[in-house]
Amino acid sequence: MIVRALPADAEALIFDFDGTLYTNAAYARYQEDSQVARLARHLGIAEAEAAARLEAAREARRAAGLPKTSLARHFLSFGVDMASIVRWRIEEIRPAEWIGPNPALDRTLAALARRFRLALLTNNPREVGRAGVDALGVASRFEAVIGLDDTFESKPAPEPFLAAALALGLPPGACVSIGDRVDVDLEPALALGMGAILVDGVEDVYRLPELLTR
Ligand SMILES: [Mg+2]
Repeated sequence: MIVRALPADAEALIFDFDGTLYTNAAYARYQEDSQVARLARHLGIAEAEAAARLEAAREARRAAGLPKTSLARHFLSFGVDMASIVRWRIEEIRPAEWIGPNPALDRTLAALARRFRLALLTNNPREVGRAGVDALGVASRFEAVIGLDDTFESKPAPEPFLAAALALGLPPGACVSIGDRVDVDLEPALALGMGAILVDGVEDVYRLPELLTR
């Protein structure tokens, strides 16, 4: 766990979902593969060809010295409209098939909720985010769930972070973004004046109450 910034007057914690509140490599792989399969059907090409085009687009950004961008932005660049991107995810991604109740996480979030307001910020549609925290048995701990269809932008764009702060009625400087990816979850939050904590999966989340509620 790496604390990049922690405002003394922080009032809210904004959690990433995938790779932060649970770790399941097979589920992470399925999420992308399922969307690449839909892209292939949409473009009328083989799945391997769709995967190759995605990798080529990622490589082109790397070669140009550009930062990584979201899967949604890549799909937009392939001519897929945002409504389809949102719908494909809702149709294909069912968290309860991959992850289950986590009482230790629920105890952790309950402890944090005594001191902070909690929000979830995911690059999946809001409905998938809600189904995710529901599958983990922690839905009641979050007073706001912000997803792709709230701003139609994805982290690392600033809009989703601002939407999360707005949903809580707080300035960005009163919020702390917690996630597993520096470029996606931390850097854009820091640029907005938020605090930022890098975690390496849910085991690090278990340590947050000791760090934040002393
Ligand atoms: Mg993540």
